Amino acid sequence: MRSCEVSSLPRKMFAHLLKEVIRAGICTACGACVSACFVNSITIADDTPKLAGPCLRCGFCYNSCPQTGGDEIYGMLFGESKPGPLGVFTKAYKARAVDPVIRERGQDGGVVTALLKYALEEKVLDAVIVAGTSREEPWRPFAKVALTAKEVIDAAGTKYTPPYMASAIWDAVYCYGAEKVGVVGTPCVVRGVRRMQHSPESALKLGSRVKLVVGLFCMESFDYSKLAKLLEESSVSLSEVTKFDIKKGKFIAYRGSEEVFSRPVSEMKEYVRGSCKACTDFTSELADISVGSVGTKAGFSTVLVRTEVGSRLFARAVEAGCIEAVELGKLTSVEKLAEMKKSKHGGH
Ligand SMILES: Cc1cc2nc3c(=O)[nH]c(=O)nc-3n(C[C@H](O)[C@H](O)[C@H](O)COP(=O)(O)OP(=O)(O)OC[C@H]3O[C@@H](n4cnc5c(N)ncnc54)[C@H](O)[C@@H]3O)c2cc1C
Repeated sequence: MRSCEVSSLPRKMFAHLLKEVIRAGICTACGACVSACFVNSITIADDTPKLAGPCLRCGFCYNSCPQTGGDEIYGMLFGESKPGPLGVFTKAYKARAVDPVIRERGQDGGVVTALLKYALEEKVLDAVIVAGTSREEPWRPFAKVALTAKEVIDAAGTKYTPPYMASAIWDAVYCYGAEKVGVVGTPCVVRGVRRMQHSPESALKLGSRVKLVVGLFCMESFDYSKLAKLLEESSVSLSEVTKFDIKKGKFIAYRGSEEVFSRPVSEMKEYVRGSCKACTDFTSELADISVGSVGTKAGFSTVLVRTEVGSRLFARAVEAGCIEAVELGKLTSVEKLAEMKKSKHGGH
């Protein structure tokens, strides 16, 4: 049993999460509730958080959820700074990994992988949570605690369905004894993790072990079962796919350099997760550092450095020769997509 003090104040708990978020169809599958439950009672079954043990009514799960709050975190991280369409950031870069193996394995410039590998090797972090996959269910991602450079490199590349990233924070801390954890995630994961770090009624003790939050740009993510079925109907075997990508408005699956599936994203609405339809954050505005594809040419990543933590680590990785980076002036295409997501989905 996880040890922690529980206040006797009446508060919202798993039953409220179930009603307001899970049954309402807006669960982001970030996994924060799973880690936040200090008696380990929340599990993921059939792609949904479920109560599998006693609920002690601590409210940590409810108060870690990115859908039940978190707007106040903006001020906690960035003070009075007025966010533009990309949130608050100090510098933007066009960047890529220097290591050709990481460049080959990475989705775009391999910046996320190079940064996490550097952070592990330099002991800035002792565990990072990445999106792993298994042979049993190809391309179904899971939150993997990576402790070595090899494990980080093996998890490179984008998986367009959610891996419940924050669910592995508990494992990293209590199974692997990590003191300094890094997490990668889409905007919803970033918000959940930030709540665990900063929201007064959340799992702050666990959240305090998170020392780096890398955010990915994200327009939307897809439901694994629906996507797998769509590909099967198109005679594409998931085990043969070597990469998925979204390019010029199309969702594409590759086998090596061959396109085996391509469909306009505008025709994929029924496969998009319900929670994405209300999300207004394209660039992971609460992250320490955000990385995406749009805004730079193929083979590079666009990087937004936001916090002191993100800025220091990125500068060190560049100085150490792990990442090459050139400062970006205009971010017109990124701003356009960020504004589009905000106007399409309304206020968070
Ligand atoms: C669902 C989704 C939608 C995206 N949509 C856009 C978009 O519309 N526009 C855009 O510019 N960029 C988008 N991205 C980001 C883009 O695909 C790349 O992840 C980003 O450019 C980083 O590239 P890289 O080569 O630096 O990363 P890599 O070096 O390949 O590292 C990627 C890291 O992210 C982890 N990861 C992979 N999938 C997930 C996941 N589902 N959840 C959490 N972590 C994961 C990997 O394990 C790895 O650690 C999206 C990413 C995701 C996951």
